[in-house]
Amino acid sequence: MIAKVIVDVPSRQTDRPFDYAVPRDMEPWIEPGSRVGVPFGGRVLQGFVIGLADESEFDAKRIKPVAELLDPVPPLLPDLIELARWMSDKYVCTWIAALQAMVPSALKGKAERFVTLSNEAPDDNGALSGLPEELLQWLNKDGGVKLDVLLGRFPHYAGAVKQALKAGMLEEKTSIHDRVGIRKVLTVYPPEGSSDPERLFASLPARAGKQRELLAYILRNNEPIPLQRLLAEAGGSAGSVRALADKGLVTIREEESKRDPYAGREFKRTEPLPLTPGQQDVYGRIAGAVESPEPKVMLLHGVTGSGKTEVYLQAIHHCLTLGKQAIVLVPEISLTPQMVERFKGRFGDAVAVMHSRLSHGERYDEWRKIRSGAVQVAIGARSAVFAPFERIGLIIIDEEHESSYKQEETPKYHARDVAVKRAKQHGAAVVLGSATPSLESYAAASRTSPGGESMLLPMPERVHGGPLPPVRIVDMRGELMSGNRSMFSRSLHQALEERLARGEQSVLLLNRRGYSTFVMCRSCGYSATCPHCDISLTYHRKSGVLRCHYCGHAEPLPASCPSCGSEHIRYFGTGTQRVEEELAKLFPGIRVIRMDVDTTSEKNAHEKLLKQFGDREADVLLGTQMVAKGLDFPYVTLVGVIAADTSLNLPDFRAGERTFQLLTQVAGRAGRHHLPGEVIIQTYAPEHYAIAAAQRHDYAAFLAEELKHRSLLAYPPYCRLVLVTMSHEQIGVLAPAAEQFAGELRALAGAAGYLGPLDGGRPKTMEVLGPTASPIAKMKDRYRFQCVIKYRGNIDISSMLRAASKPLMEAPAGRQAQISIDIDPQMIL
Ligand code: ADP
Ligand code: ZN
Ligand code: ZN
Repeated sequence: MIAKVIVDVPSRQTDRPFDYAVPRDMEPWIEPGSRVGVPFGGRVLQGFVIGLADESEFDAKRIKPVAELLDPVPPLLPDLIELARWMSDKYVCTWIAALQAMVPSALKGKAERFVTLSNEAPDDNGALSGLPEELLQWLNKDGGVKLDVLLGRFPHYAGAVKQALKAGMLEEKTSIHDRVGIRKVLTVYPPEGSSDPERLFASLPARAGKQRELLAYILRNNEPIPLQRLLAEAGGSAGSVRALADKGLVTIREEESKRDPYAGREFKRTEPLPLTPGQQDVYGRIAGAVESPEPKVMLLHGVTGSGKTEVYLQAIHHCLTLGKQAIVLVPEISLTPQMVERFKGRFGDAVAVMHSRLSHGERYDEWRKIRSGAVQVAIGARSAVFAPFERIGLIIIDEEHESSYKQEETPKYHARDVAVKRAKQHGAAVVLGSATPSLESYAAASRTSPGGESMLLPMPERVHGGPLPPVRIVDMRGELMSGNRSMFSRSLHQALEERLARGEQSVLLLNRRGYSTFVMCRSCGYSATCPHCDISLTYHRKSGVLRCHYCGHAEPLPASCPSCGSEHIRYFGTGTQRVEEELAKLFPGIRVIRMDVDTTSEKNAHEKLLKQFGDREADVLLGTQMVAKGLDFPYVTLVGVIAADTSLNLPDFRAGERTFQLLTQVAGRAGRHHLPGEVIIQTYAPEHYAIAAAQRHDYAAFLAEELKHRSLLAYPPYCRLVLVTMSHEQIGVLAPAAEQFAGELRALAGAAGYLGPLDGGRPKTMEVLGPTASPIAKMKDRYRFQCVIKYRGNIDISSMLRAASKPLMEAPAGRQAQISIDIDPQMIL
C-alpha cells in the first residue's frame, strides 16, 4: 500500500503529494486524512495522508516507509482534504498551509530526537559495558528517551552515549510529538464480578487499616472513580491504592479526560420563544433550505435587536432534529459570555465552543468532541468553519460583514467563501446574518437564484417594536470655533453628566486602538518612527515606551527631540488611556472600565470586565471596536463615539463601509430594553454620507451612495481584487523583480485577451496596477512594493498568478523577492 502524503514543508517547490510505503501493521489504521510522521530530507516531518494507492509510479526501491502514525482516528475527513485542495488553488497557497489551518494547533507536532537501544545491539551486557546500568534502565523505556532529557539527567555520561551511538549500540530516532496531549487521569475500578467482600478483605493484612478503609469505600461506591477524587473523599494515599491494585483487588486505568472550559458552569435552560410573524417567515425559509439537499446561501438582513439569534437557535434545533450538524461563526470579539450562554442554554452539552482565549489543550478537546460526534453544534470564530462534522446541515455566519472573517496570514482565506464551499460539499444551507451586510454579500443575495427566489431575508423591525435610538451628530469643528478644545463636545459632556446623575450607564467608543498616540516635537515637527518599518511608533503610557505595532520594536520615550533638541516633545492623540484620564479630570469619581487590546490580553479578562460592567460596577465602558459588538446591557442609555472620522480617513476603499457598520453597530447598544437610549457621534465630517446614513439607521441610503462610488472607481462588488505584495531587503533587487512580475502578468492577460480597462465592456477583463511602493513602504527592514489586480468575469486568476510569480521564485538565492498574494483582500493598505 502506498500513502500519498502532503509534508509539512511550506514551500511551493515541494507543494505536491509524496509517495510513502505503508508498513503492514499500519495498513488497517491508515486512511485518507491520517496524520503521519515521514522521513523527508534526512529528518522526520509531519504530514497528512491525502490518498492511498496500490502502487507508486516511482521506483519502489526509492520509496521510504511511513515512520509513524500519529492519531488512532484521522483528524481530517475526505471533504476537508478536498477543501484544502480547493483552498490552495483559490488562495494560491500550499496544500500544507491549508491542511494545517483545519486542525487545532495542538496537532502541529514537532519533531523530537530520541535515543533507544539498537536492535542490533548484542544482548550480552558485556558488549555494552561502556554504558552503566542506570543508563541502560532508562534506555529500556518504551520508545526511547529524549536525547536532551537523557543528557540533562546524566551529563557525565555524554561521552559514553556518543561512543555508543557511533558504535551502533544506541540508535537515534526522530519522532513527531504534539505540543499538547490528551489529558489522562488515573481512574480506580472496583473489583469485577460479584466477588465476596469477605474474601477480598481476607487477603489484606489486619494492620493495613488504610487499605481496608479505601477498599470499603470503593466497594460501597461501586463505580469507577478518578484517583484524585477517591483520595479527597476517602482519605489515604496513592500508595495505599497502588497496594490494593498490586494485590489485584482493584484496577487502576489511565483514562482520557476532556478539559472543559465551561465545566462547573450552570447554563439556564431556555425554551424556544414564540416567533414574531417576521421571524417566522425567515425561519420557514431557512428550515426549508436545511431540509433541501441543494446547497443554498441566504442573507439575513436584520436590524440590531430584530431577533436574529432566536431565529438561528430555532433553525439549528430543526437542523439537529434532521440528524444533521450545525456550525455557527461569530467574530472573535463578539464571542462574549452572553453569546455562549444563549447557545449553551438552548443546546447544553451538544455545543462545542472554540475561541482564541481557550488554551491549546482546551481547544483541542473541544475539537475532539466535534470529531467524535459527541456534540452537534460548533460555535466559534473564523477557524470553526473547519469543524470536522460529517453531515453539515446549516452554517450560520453572524455579523457576516466583519473583516475578522478574513485571515490575514497564510492561508489568506475568507471564512464566508470557505463556508459556501463546504455547504456545496454537504448540500447544506449557509445563513449570513447582519444589520449592515457587506456590499459583496448584498449584491450576491439580491441577484435572484434560477428559481426566481430571492436569497435576501429581511427583518426590518426590532422584536419589541421599540424604535432604534435617536442619533445626534456633533460637528467638532464647531466645538473648536466656540472655544471648546476638549475631546468631549458640550453635548456629550452634558449627556454623560445626566447619566451619572441618573445612575445609568454609558458606552464610549474610540475608533481604533492607540490611534494617533504618536510622539511629535512641537518645535520642529519630528515624529518618532520605527527604524525598521515605515510607520509611527505608538506611545504606551503604562510602560512608558514607544512601540511599533508591526515589528514590536520598542524604545524609551525621548526626553528631548532627537532632531532639534527641543524639550517640547510630547505625545499626541486620543488613545483610550488619554480618554480615561480626561474622563477622570472632567468627572471626578467617575468609574470607568477600559476595554482595549492592552486590558484584555489576559485570559478571561474580557469576560471579567464585561461582568463588572453588567453588575453596574462602572458608569462608563470605554473601549475600541470591542465595545461595539453584540453587547446587551439594559442600563446602557448613552452611546458616545469620540471620533467617527479615524476610520473614515483610512486610505482604503472600504473606509466608508467600515465606518457606517461600526457606527450602526455601536448605536444598536443603546436603549435595548425598557430605558430609552441616545447616541452621540462626534465628527469633523458630518456631511459624509456614511455618517449621515448611520444617523438615520438607513442601510438602503448608504448602500445606494456607496454603490455609486464603487461603480465609478471600479471596486468590489463591481470587480474583484487581488493584492500582491513583494518585498526584499534591497530596493535594487525588489524594483526589477516587481516590474518583471507585473510584466509577466500583463503578458499572460494580453495573450488571453483579457487585458484592458474594466469599463471596456468585455465580459472578461483584467487590469494590473503598479508596481508601486506599498503604503507601508518598509516593514521589518524589508522594502515593499505592491500590485493591485482588478478583474471581472470568470477568469482563472490563480493560475495566472502562479505562472507570473514563478520567475521570482526561481531567481538565484539572495535575489529572491518574497511574494505574498492576497485574493479578495479586506484592505489594500
Ligand atoms: P439580534 O441578534 O437581531 O440583535 P436578538 O436575537 O439579540 O437580536 O434579540 C433581541 C432581544 O429580543 C433578545 O433579548 C431576545 O431574547 C429577544 N427576542 C428575540 N426573539 C424574540 C421573540 N420571538 N419573542 C420575545 N423576545 C424575543
Ligand atoms: Zn524637534
Ligand atoms: Zn517596526
